[in-house]
Amino acid sequence: MPATLDLSGTVIVSGGNRGIGYELSRGAAEAGANVAILYRSAKDADQVAAKIGAEFNVPVKAFQCDVTEQESVKSTVSKIDKEFGPVTGLIANAGVAELRPALELTRADFDKIYNVNVYGVFNTCQAVAQLWIDRKFTKGAIVIISSMSGEIYNTSAPNKALTQVFYNSSKAAVTHLGKCLAGEWAPHGIRVNVVAPGYVNTDQTKDHPEEIKSYQANNTPLGRFCHPAEQAPSAVFLLSEKASFITGATLLNDGGYTVW
Ligand code: NDP
Repeated sequence: MPATLDLSGTVIVSGGNRGIGYELSRGAAEAGANVAILYRSAKDADQVAAKIGAEFNVPVKAFQCDVTEQESVKSTVSKIDKEFGPVTGLIANAGVAELRPALELTRADFDKIYNVNVYGVFNTCQAVAQLWIDRKFTKGAIVIISSMSGEIYNTSAPNKALTQVFYNSSKAAVTHLGKCLAGEWAPHGIRVNVVAPGYVNTDQTKDHPEEIKSYQANNTPLGRFCHPAEQAPSAVFLLSEKASFITGATLLNDGGYTVW
C-alpha cells in the first residue's frame, strides 16, 4: 500500500525498538524516512532495525543510547547525522512508568521516572535542535510522546485511588515542555508537537492486573486498549510537511479517554 505521508532524511525514534516506539519506527520508515532507533538495553535492537528496514526498503539502524546521559545523546545524535544521514526529525518516545500508591513512592522512584520522561526528552530535543540551529536547517520537526495522563486526574484503578502520580505528573511536565520548546525554537523554523496516547497494549501495561486493565478499557469511550500501530499516523503526520503550520499542539490519541 503506498504511504500517504512523505518524510525525507533521517528520523530518530527514541525507544524505537519495541512497543509504541516500534510502530513509530515502522510508520516513519513506511513514509520513506531513514530511521535511527535509540534503545537503552534491548538485546535484539539490531534485528528489529533490520526487520523494519527490510519491510519498507529503507535504511534503519539501532544505536545504543541512554536518553538520560547528556554526552552520550549529543555524540550519538551527531554520529547519526554525520554517518547515517542528515537528521530531519525526532520522535522523543522513550518513557518509563510506575503503578504504585503515592504513599509508597520514594525519591529514587521520582528520579527514575522524571529522569527519563522529562530530562531524557529534553536531552534528545536539545541535541537535535542544536544540530539544526548550527547548520541553519529550518525544517526540523519534533514529536514528543507524552500521555493523556498528563491532561487529567487519571485514576488507573477501580478504587479511584491509584494514579501513578510521578508518571502522570511527569507527562504533564513534558507536555508543557513541548509547548515551551515550540515557542523558543519557532524562530529557527523548528516545530515541536506532542502526541498524548491513551492506554496502549505494550510491555508498559501488560503486567497491570486484569481487574485494572478491564477498568481502564471500560473507562475508554471506545471501550478498548489501543494497538501500538494506531499511534504512528498522528506522529508521522505531525513530523511531515503536511503539518507545516502546526507547532505547540497536543494531539490526544486516547480513544476519547479524556472526554469524561
Ligand atoms: P515500553 O515499556 O513498551 O517501551 C519503552 C521503550 O523506551 C523501550 O524501547 C526502552 O528501551 C526505551 N527506554 C526506556 N528508558 C530509556 C532510556 N533511559 N534511554 C533510552 N531508551 C529508553 O513503552 P511503551 O511503548 O508503552 O511507551 C512508549 C511511550 O508512550 C512512553 O513515553 C510512554 O510513557 C508513552 N505512553 C504509553 C502508554 C501505554 O499505555 N503503553 C500510554 C500513554 C503514553 P529498551 O527496550 O532498550 O529498554
